[in-house]
Amino acid sequence: MSRTLVFAGNWKMHKAPADARSFFDEFLGRIAPAGDRRIIFFPPALAVPTAVEACSGRSDVEIGVQHIHWEELGAFTGEISAGMARAAGAQASLIGHSERRHLFGETVGETGKKLQAASRAGLLPVLCVGETIDERRADRAEQVVREQLEPLLDCLRGNGISRDRVMVAYEPVWAIGTGETASPDDAQEMHARIRALLDEVDAAHVPLLYGGSVKPENASVLLSGEDVDGVLVGGASLEPSSFARICDAR
Ligand code: PEP
Repeated sequence: MSRTLVFAGNWKMHKAPADARSFFDEFLGRIAPAGDRRIIFFPPALAVPTAVEACSGRSDVEIGVQHIHWEELGAFTGEISAGMARAAGAQASLIGHSERRHLFGETVGETGKKLQAASRAGLLPVLCVGETIDERRADRAEQVVREQLEPLLDCLRGNGISRDRVMVAYEPVWAIGTGETASPDDAQEMHARIRALLDEVDAAHVPLLYGGSVKPENASVLLSGEDVDGVLVGGASLEPSSFARICDAR
């Protein structure tokens, strides 16, 4: 039996509600539901209700948010809580995306609090991990990824979040938005290491996505790694035909 592959699109700060509507008008017509494919979009928070409405009736397509705060409510200007995202129809949340870590100073400790908040609110957390080019050159890639995974491993050890409702995305920072991709062998090698760490907490089955300049041209070869269960796509998820081609990759 073929495995279920996950195709996730991170729109970053692109697409207002009307743009999201036109995207789905075209994209959903191009992609038929398939039992072995799960699609998740992460639009800007303001476009979530439009995206949820546009995709209602398509159980193969889920909508998530790119960012949450760990508190439920309060004086946190500019933030949204996991509960609010859930109430707006979101089903998932990215956590620890490299742009949050490197541009906005999100710490490993904060990602731990967000993992728990997402899970408590019923959102599927997608924890993003990945090393910078300097860390890779210094042969520290594995250590950095292990440190970034630690809050998740900790939650799983303490049964703080459900093993069946979490994903990890390996996104080497040097490959995000740069046009450079990890080689399929490098991606598979890091995924196998992540899988081994998850196995230590009985969570080897957690889906592992690769992200970093995934395009229609390279999606199939990246997905050929046995521990690569899907892709998290930035730039190439903004255009319906290019993301549809990625979603058809096997
Ligand atoms: C991302 O934003 O998670 C990402 C992988 O971006 P891109 O595909 O543009 O490299």
